Amino acid sequence: MGVPYNRLVARIDLDRIAHNYAMLRRFGDNPAPVVKADAYGHGLFPVAKTLALAGAKTLCVGSVEEASALCGAYGGRVVALLGPLDMADARAVVDDDLVPMVYRFDQLDMLAEAAREGGAPVRLALKFDTGMGRLGFRPADAPALVGRLRGDPRLQLEIVASHLATADEPDNAAYVARQAGVFKDICAVFAAAGFVFERTLGNSAAMLAHEECRLDMQRPGIALYGANPFAGTALADVGKELLPAMAVSTIIAHVHDLAAGESVSYGCTFTADAPMRVAIAVAGYADCYSRSLSRRAEMVVRGRRARVLGRVCMQLTAIDVTDIPDVVPGDAAWLLGGDGPSPVTPEELAAWWGTITYEVFCLLGLNRREYA
Ligand code: PLP
Repeated sequence: MGVPYNRLVARIDLDRIAHNYAMLRRFGDNPAPVVKADAYGHGLFPVAKTLALAGAKTLCVGSVEEASALCGAYGGRVVALLGPLDMADARAVVDDDLVPMVYRFDQLDMLAEAAREGGAPVRLALKFDTGMGRLGFRPADAPALVGRLRGDPRLQLEIVASHLATADEPDNAAYVARQAGVFKDICAVFAAAGFVFERTLGNSAAMLAHEECRLDMQRPGIALYGANPFAGTALADVGKELLPAMAVSTIIAHVHDLAAGESVSYGCTFTADAPMRVAIAVAGYADCYSRSLSRRAEMVVRGRRARVLGRVCMQLTAIDVTDIPDVVPGDAAWLLGGDGPSPVTPEELAAWWGTITYEVFCLLGLNRREYA
């Protein structure tokens, strides 16, 4: 990290994460929260501590490095949803007693070798590609995997997993059902061979809306942070109790009047057609407040909405405060959340941005964070 230069603060409400976790437990009693990518920008350690206190027995992270960092601070089981795996990672898996989610035969070889060196077995999650087309063994690999694990006591199967491609698309429920069917057939191969293991298929959306995916363990991510995976769809109501845990504020540096015919920001893309009052918020694309929010987004100032005028700059953004009385430099401007009756929701911000709530959280969470 270089010299700090910005005024944005991502305020994380950990009680809301605990609330969302409790709400999700009504849909499945064994959620293994996904806290990868620094807990979707909310902070790995504070979020892990909150979830541990709320009763989470397993957490899922995105790499062996994250898993090793977490395991000392968290007493439960840590599953590493792997990207690449090298021999150093494999040794860390053994040393830290992690559960890697493996998707290639050569990863099994590395882990078996690390187990031999370390003198302790490896607890395994096997990931299958049932339709996501990303990472995973093929369904047809199941018999060969049974043979491989049967012959090697260093590799102990604990979890069989897959990931859904369309769980948050109500129109694509048939694809979810197809993946679930393929997954259950895979699990049956291991069960018939005498393995005892947990099955995990569902993400947040599946937990909320797809009964057939609520198996032994669930892996919710986005819903824990309070974004509704079904916002804007016919199923929006199932996520209506979720509370966004991240709010992002900055301060107003300057307030000035604009006469009719005067313009704002680079390219003069906004010109006032009547006298108005403009505030300059200290936020821009250098703070991950995307330039694609230009002329689309709104902020909250003094409990009221203020629309973004003209282009978002590197560290400054102009907003319309004509109808908001008494705005002065030093006032807070909320880019996400905010006081008053109509906080900016993650779904709104994502729509203005042209992205999804996941990206909004991950990027804005790169700013300074404060916890409540
Ligand atoms: N499981 C895996 C393998 C994932 O990659 C993710 C997130 O990308 C999740 C679970 C959690 O998904 P969601 O955040 O949609 O609940």
